[in-house]
Amino acid sequence: MNAHDSERISGLLEQDGMERAESEDDADLVVLNTCCIRENADEKLYGSLGWLKPWKEKGIELGRERQIMVAGCLAQKDKDRVRKRAPYVDVVMGTHNVHRAVDLLEHASMSGGITEIFDEAVIDDHALFPSALPVRRERSYNAWVTIQIGCDNTCTYCIVPSVRGKEISRPFGDIVDEVAALARDGVTEISLLGQNVNSYGRDLSLDARRAGDADIKLRPQFGELLRAVGAVDGIRRVRYVSPHPKDMNLETLMAMAETPAVCEHLHYPLQSGSDRVLTLMHRGYTAQKYLEKIAQARSLIEDAAVTTDIIVGFPGETEEDFVQSLEVAAEAQFDSAYLFIFSPREGTEAAKMQEHFIAPEVMSSRYDRMKVVLDHSAIIKHEARIGRIEEVIVEGRNKRDADAFTGRTRQNKLVHFKSADALRAGTYATVEITSAARFHLSGQLIEVGAEPTHKVRLSVQAL
Ligand code: SAH
Ligand code: SF4
Repeated sequence: MNAHDSERISGLLEQDGMERAESEDDADLVVLNTCCIRENADEKLYGSLGWLKPWKEKGIELGRERQIMVAGCLAQKDKDRVRKRAPYVDVVMGTHNVHRAVDLLEHASMSGGITEIFDEAVIDDHALFPSALPVRRERSYNAWVTIQIGCDNTCTYCIVPSVRGKEISRPFGDIVDEVAALARDGVTEISLLGQNVNSYGRDLSLDARRAGDADIKLRPQFGELLRAVGAVDGIRRVRYVSPHPKDMNLETLMAMAETPAVCEHLHYPLQSGSDRVLTLMHRGYTAQKYLEKIAQARSLIEDAAVTTDIIVGFPGETEEDFVQSLEVAAEAQFDSAYLFIFSPREGTEAAKMQEHFIAPEVMSSRYDRMKVVLDHSAIIKHEARIGRIEEVIVEGRNKRDADAFTGRTRQNKLVHFKSADALRAGTYATVEITSAARFHLSGQLIEVGAEPTHKVRLSVQAL
């Protein structure tokens, strides 16, 4: 979500006539788009603001105005702290103010530093959905599409609801229209974005009922959305993050199974394998329910890869709780996982459970032990793919081997393979998998398929 906001801020600035600079020496503006979901963001932010002070002063020496903008959820949460620690920052802007980026910079240029934080999204398409703004996409063959902002859940460790506001779904038709427009631009792969995609449309249906409309079928379901965007001409791959296990339903799994464009990949955040800890986290499901759901997903969706998020060291997590997490992770046989050490976020319920905090050395030992289990299942899953023919979308040249390219399979796995001919990013190819490692596969190119049709940006110098 944060990376997508960055693309939107870049898009707005480009539309206003700015160009991406090669280095900070050439830049007139530095935007720090922060994320506060876990620790370290603060340190990184204040560290960067430290070197940006002389950078800005040097601008005065050179006779050019240099501006600094701090955006994102850390700015939303700590606006006063940022102002106090770095009064030379030109703009401090919150998560609901992305659409205001250009105006705020202009204002700061004329009248000095400005802070603007909207606590809730104002009801205006631009403010609500970053996808409604111009964009400068990092990759031109795939795109993120926001379907929902904010979150109405109350996971006790999580800061998202307080910095991203309440859950608001984007109208169904707007999403499909955006995907169709992207497809016309040559985008073939889209990723739908939301904090709890399975509750997509909940607020839309409530509105319909409030308006006195008895037809509650008006509520659009996430599964229907998957089917609709998967049917858009030109879209070959649809992905989404993140579903919440408590809201995952059969309709979503059926839509995944029956819509050819929807990739066989389910990112399904577990967080913990202990029911006691899941209750303390307010997650709303048990380990058993979680395992049943992935078994159902695997039986309905042929060759589905399942990935997850796990937190170790939640306050009060006992050795027994942790062992249950190890067992559930082993049983789930994840293809890969994001593993996090609990990080107390100011203002969350879990941050107040200080007397139950787990000692750092225990947390890091649990992290290492969990990693062994996750790495083991990743290797098993990857080795099982050796000998298969996989469709990949080319991402670019391999950074370590100039003759090799890197592609991504439908199961979201990276594959390195050689090609005598240069392959443009966004090209589809088939590759035979020849070996496997923890984080990637290697393969042999069989055939180059569809060439990309998206436009490529050339810098003026390159022309
Ligand atoms: N909405 C998504 C999660 C978004 S945050 C969901 O519910 O699945 C991405 C991941 O960051 C979470 O799944 C969680 O594993 C991790 N995370 C969030 N807050 C955290 C915290 N305080 N400490 C450690 N990990 C955290
Ligand atoms: Fe955070 Fe839970 Fe909402 Fe995910 S569902 S964003 S973890 S509160």
